[in-house]
Amino acid sequence: MCHNIIDGRFHLECQHFIPMHTRMQDCLRPNCLFSRRHAHPVGCRSPSCVRMMTTPQRNPIRMSETKCADCVMRERTGAMSCT
Ligand SMILES: [Zn+2]
Ligand SMILES: [Zn+2]
Ligand SMILES: [Zn+2]
Repeated sequence: MCHNIIDGRFHLECQHFIPMHTRMQDCLRPNCLFSRRHAHPVGCRSPSCVRMMTTPQRNPIRMSETKCADCVMRERTGAMSCT
């Protein structure tokens, strides 16, 4: 089955994954609705065709030893609201 591959950066300190871009991995099967090899590109009603994509896979193309921008921001605003 086809699935999306999410390229992104993994922040080691906060364990957050920040997606950068998504690409689709084509399984090239004729019975898969998402494949460009799908046998019925228009109005497919075949019950044997796959209509679901498998869960996307994270592909960390970069590793960062610091926290992600979200966590830095959260920390900063948290410190500001603390009175
Ligand atoms: Zn597929
Ligand atoms: Zn089909
Ligand atoms: Zn984070």
